[in-house]
Amino acid sequence: MPKRRSTTAYVGIGSNLGDRKSNIEKAIRLVELVKGVRLKNISSIYETDPAGGPKQGKFLNGVFKIETTLNPLELLCEFQKIEKHLGRKKRIKNAPRTIDLDILLFGSKKIDDKKLTIPHPRMHKREFVLKGLRELRQARML
Ligand code: AMP
Repeated sequence: MPKRRSTTAYVGIGSNLGDRKSNIEKAIRLVELVKGVRLKNISSIYETDPAGGPKQGKFLNGVFKIETTLNPLELLCEFQKIEKHLGRKKRIKNAPRTIDLDILLFGSKKIDDKKLTIPHPRMHKREFVLKGLRELRQARML
């Protein structure tokens, strides 16, 4: 079988339910176990206010960089398995969540599918995303 090409992707991670820091650490460990995904770097973790939705606690959020041989839908599927494993019940828009994994960028791909939009449509509105991406870019230049 031909070797699959590797793509650099950036992922937003967040939690605002339960032990938020531990949820993020567990999710990162599970991401590292996914076949076809290699974790390259992770930004600082920021505390942020929830964006809309019902009254709920603040988030801990960060951004991480991966190299992956999976395609975007395969990656989304792996992330949804991790979210489910860590106790996320339903994907209700803007509801509190034990863990949220959002694909922000996937190489230079543009996708507008009913299951997946890349670049992530709200990424430019979230300050932690911009800060995290800047941090990861700077780290790459060292
Ligand atoms: P949310 O509850 O805001 O995390 O959004 C849930 C839904 O967003 C999922 O069912 C995905 O199919 C969809 N989705 C669309 N684009 C993306 C993306 N870039 N990363 C993750 N989920 C996405």
